[in-house]
Amino acid sequence: MLRRARALTSRPASSTGRPATFAQVISTVIFDFGGVISSPLFVGIGAFEEAEGYPTGSLLQLLFGETHYIGVEGRAVAEAMADDPDAAEAAGVVTDEPDWHLLEKGEIDVATYFTRLSERAPAILGTEIDMEAYGRFWRQSAPGVHWMVVHKIRDLKARGLRLGLLTNNVKEFGEHWRTMFPLDELFEEVVDSSHVGMRKPEREIYELTCSRMGITPGEAIFVDDNADNVAAARAYGMEAVHFRENPWEALRQLDAILERRGTRRGHRS
Ligand SMILES: [Mg+2]
Repeated sequence: MLRRARALTSRPASSTGRPATFAQVISTVIFDFGGVISSPLFVGIGAFEEAEGYPTGSLLQLLFGETHYIGVEGRAVAEAMADDPDAAEAAGVVTDEPDWHLLEKGEIDVATYFTRLSERAPAILGTEIDMEAYGRFWRQSAPGVHWMVVHKIRDLKARGLRLGLLTNNVKEFGEHWRTMFPLDELFEEVVDSSHVGMRKPEREIYELTCSRMGITPGEAIFVDDNADNVAAARAYGMEAVHFRENPWEALRQLDAILERRGTRRGHRS
């Protein structure tokens, strides 16, 4: 205890009067796309599931191989299950890699994904899936853009910060999401899971992103709406913002980290 107190008081003070820290200043911010730059995905899937008469959680299980796919109503389920492995098991959290992951890693295409999904549906939903109704739901729940986030990204770029985008995505969706906002104007690097054969929260995809940008994780902030992806980024040594329901709150947290850590113009010479 004494040693700890002495260590704290012996730290040098910076000119601002705050203790100096040895953390690197921030050069780079890396953003997720779905639920961060876009508005949340699959909004209303719980109500759709109920309207179709499918058991609670079964549609999430069918689509994603887990009931707590984050970014949808599943978040509450995930948080309730965090300390209860029995409940998670009962809800069908699987250990085999779900088709959704294979789709996001570009190992299967969308057509294969939906063929397999239709085949598995009766065992999970208790009935055939009504693909026409699901198609209507999908079109109605198409996400928009969090323009306040896009404006923030533009502001960070003007301040000289470097910008990367790291997305778990689906090859066939590329033509759509890449045109929703000025992607190429804003981001120096875009790492798309379906093009690189790995996905968040696998550590390798964070390593790849940093390596492509020529940075160390300690000089980057990562912003994502999925708790697992945020935890993996922190474990790898990045600062991270867990983007939740309120975009303004997430941007406030991002600003607070930039203020605390300081920034430097990071463009490669
Ligand atoms: Mg996301």
